[in-house]
Amino acid sequence: MRCPFCESDKIRVVDSRPSDDGASIRRRRECEDGDCGKRFTTYERVEQVRKLVVVKRDATRVPFDSDKILKGLHAACGKRPISEEAKEDLVRMLEDQLHREFDREVSTSEIGKRVSTALRGIDAVAYIRFASEQEQFVGAEDFAALLDELKRKPPPPPNQEPLFEEG
Ligand SMILES: [Zn+2]
Repeated sequence: MRCPFCESDKIRVVDSRPSDDGASIRRRRECEDGDCGKRFTTYERVEQVRKLVVVKRDATRVPFDSDKILKGLHAACGKRPISEEAKEDLVRMLEDQLHREFDREVSTSEIGKRVSTALRGIDAVAYIRFASEQEQFVGAEDFAALLDELKRKPPPPPNQEPLFEEG
């Protein structure tokens, strides 16, 4: 395993505990590279026996890869004040949700929609960035309309699982 920030392989586990549903083990890890020292989270779980396949817009199919969601989140969140842990928790929540609700295949647009919805409750700017990346909104007028809508409407009710864990 390598540090996602600096690629160092000197990683130590600082905390291990089962996830809320008991289906996985959550480990907080710390990079031991002196210049980096960042913390990140890994989840250990039984490998999905039936792999989820993602159907892209051009109808090609690729294996589901939660790292791609995390990368999209990183791009959308930029320097917004959203912790790395919150992003990782969001990805894990979506991954569990998708595996529960979709038997074999799920479209990229469905994944995008869910990420958008989750982001919307966290950070409006990151949400807009992500949605535009997904080509769900194009042009300044759309952004203005969206900002308007954000001002009028309260954020959606929280998901059944908390996006943020205590501790
Ligand atoms: Zn590092």
